[in-house]
Amino acid sequence: MAKVMAVNAGSSSLKYKLYEMPEEKVLCSGNVERIGHEDGIFGIKFGSENIKITQPILDHSRGVELVLEALIKYGIIKSLDEIECVGHRVVQGGKYFSKSAEFDQHNADLIESMTPLDPLHAPAHITGWKAFKAALPEVPAIAVFDTSFHQTMEPEDYLYPIPYEMSEKYDCRRYGAHGTSHNYLANLAIEHYFGGKAEGSRILSCHIGSGASLCAIRDGKCVATTMGLTPLGGVMMGTRTGDLDPSVMDYLCTCTGKDVHEMYDIFNKKSGLLGVSGISNDTRDVEEAAEKGNKRAILTSKLFARRVADFIGQYYVRLGGIDLIIFSAGIGENSAYFRKAILEDVQEALGLKIDYELNAKVRGREEILSTPDSKIKVVVIPTDEEVMIARDCYKRITNGAI
Ligand code: ADP
Repeated sequence: MAKVMAVNAGSSSLKYKLYEMPEEKVLCSGNVERIGHEDGIFGIKFGSENIKITQPILDHSRGVELVLEALIKYGIIKSLDEIECVGHRVVQGGKYFSKSAEFDQHNADLIESMTPLDPLHAPAHITGWKAFKAALPEVPAIAVFDTSFHQTMEPEDYLYPIPYEMSEKYDCRRYGAHGTSHNYLANLAIEHYFGGKAEGSRILSCHIGSGASLCAIRDGKCVATTMGLTPLGGVMMGTRTGDLDPSVMDYLCTCTGKDVHEMYDIFNKKSGLLGVSGISNDTRDVEEAAEKGNKRAILTSKLFARRVADFIGQYYVRLGGIDLIIFSAGIGENSAYFRKAILEDVQEALGLKIDYELNAKVRGREEILSTPDSKIKVVVIPTDEEVMIARDCYKRITNGAI
């Protein structure tokens, strides 16, 4: 038995989950929020307890201290020596990482060097790593990348049709994201629906949360994914546009007098469900308004579903057919309304037969939504990115490498 910590450090937050491996038992989990503020929030859940304490948390180091103190204070572990590995989620692994890696100084420098590709997360990942390293200097740390699952894409799938020299010189290409989730979903689906045999399987994984991406997976490996150079690309999301004609940027800058950075911020934070509906980035609010007959909300739902449906069609061709479609993440797991809107858009072309009565009841649990006569099986599977981090930590402990 070994205890490992899965960490997801953001710019002002730090999510964590302590596991006992190989049982994959969650001993506790929590979130440190509003780091950098006098009214920071420290949260921890274990057993039936759900504790939240508001206090000054001025930097990530203080956040990590609070987490480690709480593990002892609440009797979750007796000594910090029990933690054998810390696994950090890292969004961008660029061209350097096709699998998880030791989080040492060399790799930290590489991750930091990719900050231009991920200005939002890369500095936070480094800060989180440093804070844990200072508190647990002898404990090995690993980095688990959102992009590594997508490194099996072929150049035809990851290159943009820009001058080739620019792709090469600036590493400007599709990297994708949510790879840890797509990998988890593919592994589980292969176990549950393909008798554990990856060869020959054609899976379309739809991770649809506030960030959303689709991934075409053949033989258990990614062949194509919707997110691009950054998580702004692909399908429409909570606040992000997804793919656009690039001239929209130039045109709107000219129309509004805003510069590229301001417009980029609008594409990232004020578009998608929020921008089109003018109501919310949360599907629950949009759904409620649509059900009351709000026209913009209805249009938003249709637009959202259509963007996902278009990619399902594209990936049906890319995979040469699909055996299994997976819905996952906040919307995919919980919103019967949005699942139905998407499935209705593709069912005729793909020969899907869906039990919509069952669909209406499924929330946050694994379930087959298609009927036995459907040409493609459609399932809901809750995702679990943290357990993938814990599994790589365990590999690191038992093999000495990943
Ligand atoms: P993130 O990308 O932040 O990890 P999640 O996968 O947690 O996002 O998805 C969050 C989104 O999922 C919410 O913004 C909301 O749109 C949707 N969502 C979550 N729970 C429900 C629910 N019970 N019903 C409908 N939609 C939900």
